[in-house]
Parts: sequence; structure tokens; C-alpha cells
Amino acid sequence: MKTAEIMQRLAAKHPGEAEYLQAVQEVLESIEEVYNQHPEFEKAQIVERMVEPDRIFTFRVTWVDDKGQVQTNLGYRVQFNSAIGPYKGGLRFHKAVTPSMLKFLGFEQTFKNALTTLPMGGGKGGSDFDPVGKSDAEIMRFCQAFMLELWRCIGPDQDVPAGDVGVGGREIGFLNGMYQKLARQYHTGVLTGKGMTFGGSVLRPEATGFGALYFTQHMLHKAGKDIKGMRVALSGFGNVAWGAAIKAVQLGAKVVAISGPDGVCEIKDGITPEMIDYMLVMRASNHNKVEEMAQKFPAQAKFTAGKKSWSVPCDIAMPSAFQNELSLEDAKELEKNGCKICAEISNMGCQADAIHYMQKQGFLFAPGKAVNAGGVATSGLEMTQNAEHLSWKGEEVDERLHHIMESIHEQCVKFGTQADGHVDYVKGANIAGFMKVATAMLEQGII
Ligand code: GLU
Repeated sequence: MKTAEIMQRLAAKHPGEAEYLQAVQEVLESIEEVYNQHPEFEKAQIVERMVEPDRIFTFRVTWVDDKGQVQTNLGYRVQFNSAIGPYKGGLRFHKAVTPSMLKFLGFEQTFKNALTTLPMGGGKGGSDFDPVGKSDAEIMRFCQAFMLELWRCIGPDQDVPAGDVGVGGREIGFLNGMYQKLARQYHTGVLTGKGMTFGGSVLRPEATGFGALYFTQHMLHKAGKDIKGMRVALSGFGNVAWGAAIKAVQLGAKVVAISGPDGVCEIKDGITPEMIDYMLVMRASNHNKVEEMAQKFPAQAKFTAGKKSWSVPCDIAMPSAFQNELSLEDAKELEKNGCKICAEISNMGCQADAIHYMQKQGFLFAPGKAVNAGGVATSGLEMTQNAEHLSWKGEEVDERLHHIMESIHEQCVKFGTQADGHVDYVKGANIAGFMKVATAMLEQGII
């Protein structure tokens, strides 16, 4: 297998699908050497099969806004790979959603889910619906209209969606209600990230952020460092940044930045519990403006319009908002300000040249599919609880999450340790995920 040749073919077949091609390129680059040591992979055309989704559903979603006007959006579900279990992955509601974006996310999800140790395949879905400025009633009507199409594609042993950007507990509640109404199936395991009164798992909302910090702790520990006292810059202020902020503070770190599409809030003395709670209020408002944090806490938070979190001096950068949110220039600025650690929480949060630069400059760098896997892992734990018709205590979920993140870190070290002893976490995560999915595909024949 030659990455360049495969990429050329894929680019010709899927012109303009930039995010998808970027995600595939990163994985193929990492696995090429290992792949070529296994002629059985080549014989079964594992890579050629793995880079294409099993299927994609595309549907029209029509709903009525508060003014009585008819609105039409597009909805999608990408069922990427089911070699190791039912399709599993979130739904993204964002105005920029395209098939390319969901294909990249579904592809990433396949490897991430393989790393979790749980039997979950990869999927992703969503819509170009823009939640910004929408009322609760509009969100509900959109979710119901979206489910009117989606329900036929999903099921607890088939495909289990969850949240992602623009889809949190509120949206999952509306989606789940409509699913039950349409399917007349009342099992609890068809969506994850549910409310605690209808089959949700304790700690699922916090899990992506908590898991990211557990992973980072292991990575720092391996490098002989301690997170205590370190300054952490997060981006965004959504569910992921919220969970990460809680755990970072619990572990003795200082969260010095959060951001939004409007700019950055620098929090010199570190985020407080009141500010962390306020992140939830900001998310629920659908205003999508981080400036509101500085308006509410003017003595602690300084807002700068148009700037990113990477302009704030920090020790650990944790992109936690959107793909490609950290550029080469941002990486250089981080380094100039003394930062040498980056743990990606968002999916493909860093641009490829930024990752290459950071690795060359000796940053400790870990990719999203390892760092953020605690979210989907806890979704897997929610599925287990639903299948058992039980709900576990917080300590049990937290302990399992911790073990899973430790195991992901171990897999990265196993497959990513280089001749000079340093760990290439990008390679480690990609090879570990790939080997599991490839082996599962190989053993199940040509299908
Ligand atoms: N959207 C999250 C992710 O990117 C969670 C998916 C899930 O829980 O299924 O992994």
C-alpha cells in the first residue's frame, strides 16, 4: 500500500471533500509501514474497504419555525464501519455540516471506538441545521422532524447515535421521545447521552472532558511531569470544554482560557466553579457568545474579540471545539508563549501542518481519537447499563472510564514508541485502532 497512490485515487473519486481526505491521509501515513508488513491485509484490500463508509443515508428535514415559516435542512447518517460492533457515534447540528465532514468524523470514530476496548463500530450523523438563535420549541420541532427519517436506520444492535457539536442532553431527549413514538419500541438503548430519568448514564455529560484529563495525566506522568499547577487553555465553552474544566480544576490545574466564535475569554487566575456552571447557561441560551462570560464575571474574565485561546499563555493547549481550530500559526504562538503540550479533545482539532510542527519541536502531542475517546466509551457503558436494565453508581462509571483511558494510553505507548524511546501518540493511536479493525475485518471474510 502506498499512501500517496491511495490518496490520489480517493481525491479523484471524492473531489472537494477536504476534511475527509485530511482524516484518511493522517491515518494512512501512520499505518503504512505496519500495513506493508502484513501481506494478508493487502490481499483482502483492507485499506480500500476501510476508507469508504458502508453506507450513507441522506434525507430532507422540513420543519416550521416560530414565525410559522417552513424551513428545510439536510440530514445524514454515515454508517462507516461495523466490523467490531453496531455503528456508534454522535450527531452534529451545525450550519457547516456536509457529507465530507460527517465522513471524516465517521472514519475517525471507527478507530476511536476500536481504542475504547468496547465492541462498537463507527458512525456519525447530523444536519446543517444551525441551532444558534433558535428557541427551545424550534429545537424540539427540528429534532422531531429529523427523527422522522432517522428512526428507520437506527436501533440498539444496529446503530446508536449520541450527541456531538450542537447536540446535547436537550436534543437527545427530544430525539429519543420521537423515536419511541415512531418505532413503538421502548428499549432504552437506541441513543446515548440520555437524561438520567430515561436510561442515561451518570457522568456521560462529563465523560469526554474527564477522560481527556485522565489521558493527559497519564501522558504527563509518562514524561515525568505533573499537571498540578499547570495552566490549561481550552477552546469553546460547550459540553466538552465544560467537563474538561471541571476535571482540570479537580486535578489542581488552572484553566486560563475558554473561547467562542466571537473571541476568547482570558481568565488569569483560573476558572472558578461559578464560571464553570455558567458555561452551561451559555450553552443552553443558544447565543454562542463567550463574551457573556466576561459580562457576567468582569473582574475575572477578560474578553478579546476575534482572538483564539491559543493567544493566551498556557502550559497545555486543549482544543475542544471544532476540527482544524488550531493552525500552524497558532502552534507557533503557543510555543512562543512557552507551551509545549497539546492534547486534542476536539476531533481533528489541529491542522496537519500544526501537528507536524509541534511534533518536530518536541511538543508532547496526543490526537483527538485517543484523548476524547472517554465520551464514546461512556456511551458504551451507557449501552451496557441499558442492556442490563440497570444503572451504575458514579464511582463505578468513573472507575471504568479511568481504566479505559489508561488502556488507551497503554495502546498508544505500545504501538507508538519510537526507536529513540519517545512516544508518537498519533502513530500509536492510529496503529492500535487500525490493527483491531483490520483484524476484525479479515477474520469475517470479504463482505
Ligand atoms: N460525539 C462524540 C465523539 O465524537 C461521542 C459519540 C458517542 O457518544 O457516541 O466521540
